Amino acid sequence: MNRLFCAAMLLTSPLAAQGGGAGNQRTTGVPGITVDTTGVGALIDQGMNKSQVIKNLQYLTDVIGPRLTGSPAARAANDWTMKQFQGYGLDARLEQWNFGGTWERGPMWMRLVAPRAHDVVAASWAWAPGTGGKPVTGPVVRIDASTPESLAANKGKVKGAWVMLRPAAPVWNNDGPPMTAADSQRQREFFRGLQQALPRDSAARARQQQFNADQPYLLRDAGALGILLDAGKEQDLLNMSGSPNRVLPLPQVVVAHEEYALFDRLLGLGETPRLQASIQNTLNMKDSVPQWNTVAEIRGTEHPAQVVIVGAHLDSWDLGTGATDNGTGSMATLEAARIIAQSGLQPKRTIRFILFTGEEQGLIGSRKYAAQHAGEADSIQAIIVLDNGAGAVTGQALQGRPELYGLWRAILAPLHDFNADTVNDAFKGGTDHLSFLPYGVPGFNFNQITRGYNHTHHSQSDTWDKAIDWDLRQASTVMAVSAFELANLTGMIPRGQRNPPPPVMATKISPELLRANR
Ligand SMILES: [Zn+2]
Repeated sequence: MNRLFCAAMLLTSPLAAQGGGAGNQRTTGVPGITVDTTGVGALIDQGMNKSQVIKNLQYLTDVIGPRLTGSPAARAANDWTMKQFQGYGLDARLEQWNFGGTWERGPMWMRLVAPRAHDVVAASWAWAPGTGGKPVTGPVVRIDASTPESLAANKGKVKGAWVMLRPAAPVWNNDGPPMTAADSQRQREFFRGLQQALPRDSAARARQQQFNADQPYLLRDAGALGILLDAGKEQDLLNMSGSPNRVLPLPQVVVAHEEYALFDRLLGLGETPRLQASIQNTLNMKDSVPQWNTVAEIRGTEHPAQVVIVGAHLDSWDLGTGATDNGTGSMATLEAARIIAQSGLQPKRTIRFILFTGEEQGLIGSRKYAAQHAGEADSIQAIIVLDNGAGAVTGQALQGRPELYGLWRAILAPLHDFNADTVNDAFKGGTDHLSFLPYGVPGFNFNQITRGYNHTHHSQSDTWDKAIDWDLRQASTVMAVSAFELANLTGMIPRGQRNPPPPVMATKISPELLRANR
């Protein structure tokens, strides 16, 4: 799941039940469409009793490891998953797309040197440069640089300094007393304050957006050593993001919340923290570099040109091993393919399994895939994605399509005993199904039990030990059953609203600020 695309989730209570039907046919409330549950028992048996998903996840995370898009490990994961699909009897291939440029994390350290000394829990943000292979030292300052005016007013403070641009996040101590109403209110206000309200006037709006793009360049030109970010989590957990579409011109370092809050408190006492750091990263933005999505298919017997897509992202951030984000989703996708292929059942429509890369940098692999396949969008029955961590599936989110409530209730009805059949009208953000919505393709991302995803997500703690075998078996089975039933529906699901897809492009920096990185 991607931070940049994680829109607010609109959660409401499940809608009233409907559906039912005779024999293996279930009505859906959608004209001309019924769900055929024939074969579901065989899929459940295959998924729950003959699972290979936990073993595959272990190989992916422990042996191949983290899969940063553009890294050799990402390509190794493409090759390995292609072979796995082929081993299960599917036609599989790699489909190329072009990425803006690669970034390689090198060694780094950061140390508080005044008013006392300790090592700082920190990591370089991705697609940020290092310190040129040498340690740099400077004070920490916290300034408001959210508008051209505030940055101009504070510019004199940043020369030779590590810059914090926000107060510390209100991370709650879960071992202390519970939150009061006032605490919750303060927390809500803080997070609301992070969402910058853009001016309504279009010229003022464009000016602010350009300033947001230019801000790190302006800080570099003012002589800042680097930007510090609050990881915003408990227990020293870190956080990560970045993209070749927003390459930074100066070091940006995410520090554990405990460190960031300490710097902030010291500043409040009139004590200036001083930090020394050495960061070595390698950016290669010279050319567009090829990347790949792994694509595999089970061909439909009656409507082979009509396709159900089952997907998840194979790439990950690199502090942990990308187990819950999104080794679990991608291995459930691989397992759904095995379940269907080895059940001996044949779907009427083609089922295509896609493991996307470039998700963490802005859903790039799936956006490019959807654009390359725009001509066949009307033949895509639906895309179903799993990307909310290690937990079992609880059901489906309707993604702004409330008229499909009965359809999803009918699809998930055979999974009632697995607690996977609730349907709500949430709009899920942050992952690859979004890339298909502008083309009118019905797109969904399953709801899941949290299982600590708030902690593991993008942190160094995202490792195989967080996976739960039963949950993974269940999620893989839900994916397989849903895909098979979608492939065998009596008709095509009505298309969603079409919108122009947002272009995949780099943030445009004001030309006068662009020069070689220091
Ligand atoms: Zn993610």
